[in-house]
Amino acid sequence: MTKSTDLDLDAIRARYRAERDRRTATTAGERQYLDVDQGFSHLLDDPYGEAPPRPAIDREVEVLIVGGGFGGLLTGARLSEAGIDDMLIADAGSDFGGTWYWNRYPGAACDIESYIYFPLLEETGYMPVERYSKSAEIRAHCRRIGEHFGLYEKALFSTQVVALDWDAAAARWIARTNRGDRIAARFTVLTTGPLNRPKLPDIPGIASFAGHSFHTSRWDYAYTGGSATEVMEGLADKRVGIIGTGATGVQCIPPLAKSAQHLTVFQRTPSSVDVRNNSATDPDWAASLHPGWQQERMENFTAQFTRELPATDLVGDGWTALFRTLRERLANNVDGLSAAELFERADFEKMEELRARVASIVEDEAAAEALKPWFSLYCKRPCFHDEFLQSFNRDNVTLVDTAGRGVERITADAIVVAGVEYPVDCLIFATGFDVATSYAQRSGMTVRGVGGLSLSDKWGGGLSTLHGMHTRSFPNCFVISQAQAGMSPNFPHMLSEQTGHIAHIVRHCTAQGIQTVEPTAEAEGNWVDTILKLGEARRQFNADCTPGYYNDEGRNSDVAARSSAFGTGPVAFIKLLQAWREAGDLAGLELDGDHARAKMENAA
Ligand code: NDP
Repeated sequence: MTKSTDLDLDAIRARYRAERDRRTATTAGERQYLDVDQGFSHLLDDPYGEAPPRPAIDREVEVLIVGGGFGGLLTGARLSEAGIDDMLIADAGSDFGGTWYWNRYPGAACDIESYIYFPLLEETGYMPVERYSKSAEIRAHCRRIGEHFGLYEKALFSTQVVALDWDAAAARWIARTNRGDRIAARFTVLTTGPLNRPKLPDIPGIASFAGHSFHTSRWDYAYTGGSATEVMEGLADKRVGIIGTGATGVQCIPPLAKSAQHLTVFQRTPSSVDVRNNSATDPDWAASLHPGWQQERMENFTAQFTRELPATDLVGDGWTALFRTLRERLANNVDGLSAAELFERADFEKMEELRARVASIVEDEAAAEALKPWFSLYCKRPCFHDEFLQSFNRDNVTLVDTAGRGVERITADAIVVAGVEYPVDCLIFATGFDVATSYAQRSGMTVRGVGGLSLSDKWGGGLSTLHGMHTRSFPNCFVISQAQAGMSPNFPHMLSEQTGHIAHIVRHCTAQGIQTVEPTAEAEGNWVDTILKLGEARRQFNADCTPGYYNDEGRNSDVAARSSAFGTGPVAFIKLLQAWREAGDLAGLELDGDHARAKMENAA
């Protein structure tokens, strides 16, 4: 492994900046993406399930959960554990699963170790069959959670909530759905996912493409044949093009390479791709686990990314490798370098190792050069795969590197880069999801709180919350996201903490007869200030990064800064919530406050 003493640190820094600059010079922020509603709304159709006819419902419930992914399932489970069973869970999909319902592309798998990624393993008595699970097993686990906690009876599938309005007189949220339902709920939990709505690049000519095309989150197996784990025989005589080499592209390119007559990969920025080294679950290890092991393992993993740097690294995989190195260097810091300097050097070494990995696998020199990532590991989602780079050694695979510029043009039957036409029969968009658009656009619903204020308007100038989950003028409404909350690469860990916290508040309100709960303006303002202050270091880090959804597509704007996670880290955030609950006074929340009632009178 290369040591930092062998590296020219200034040269690497300069190369990183140059790579970032060539990307930012040609593509600007979210404007480079299309709103799928403008001519591509078929992309949101569900290819996996029918929406069976059913009469519209008119119901009153204690809690309406919007979203049936891990967030919705965990909320349902935690509420049920807290003795609250009067709930409905609405989801646009025809089953539980959320992101795992939609993302069934070939090769889809979890990148985080399944033993910490699958929620509620001990509660449901399940053990994943391998260390990094395929999507079908994750979906099956979602169904298992639904069955275990009796959530199927509370589910409204193939149902999109289109509007949520606060009825101040009744102190209820009134939900309207695309199935004509009306649901009045005392509390609502919005857990619609951070990467929910597919997005398309606004490439000139995109609408003129006359071949077959789809987005990876709506995989068209009717066209490709096969399945997520089998050869797609429908592609045997097809020239397939794929745009995008993020975490999704990296996973679906190997199976596409094995199935297509020819595969052309259009790359703008290469991902970092480390070894996967998957393995079957060792039954002896599984049998040796003691009660509470999953929580302990989740906490240990999340703590690796914080200042705590626990001495033991229970997961010990590619996610935590950089921090293992950092821990060793801190313990043996003979040059007296700062933690930031040590981190930068460990990061440079890691990326040098990953670039060397590309060179050792990819035979074509030009392709190998183009596939080398020149940015800091955590600028983009780190990827892990043992077949991705190898795919470029196949005769039927061509890499078209756009040198940071992106695809130039799309015609009726070809993709154009640097004036060269690449004819394709099928074009697959692995181009990611809306992140920075309005809440209404990303979630497909309008949320209007006190006095008719919409959530999109309230957050138009940037997010404003208490603990990332309450926002003033939206009483009894909880939003689940990592923005202004704790952020762990293991998303389900934070969901578990947040949903437990929400269940605590709902139970408290129910037990005490509290009708409305919303943050005070002061508490919310203080929390936003804290987020901005503590997020400054990450903002500076982001400024040096190549563009992507992590850094607001390179804009690194004030609005995006307000969506940062709690800067002291996820463990500190979890402890903060714990201390808040233990204090028992619901600090910062206005209980049965005048704010909601006063607005109601105004509105009347
Ligand atoms: P991303 O947003 O990460 O990637 C989109 C890709 O499309 C990028 O490679 C981007 O290039 C490329 N792109 C966009 N516009 C153009 C254009 N005009 N020309 C050429 N290329 C273009 O989306 P993904 O779906 O890959 O991943 C989203 C997230 O989903 C991940 O970051 C991860 O959090 C999650 N995920 C998790 C997995 C797991 O294992 N748990 C697996 C898969 C996804 P550029 O980089 O230059 O912007």
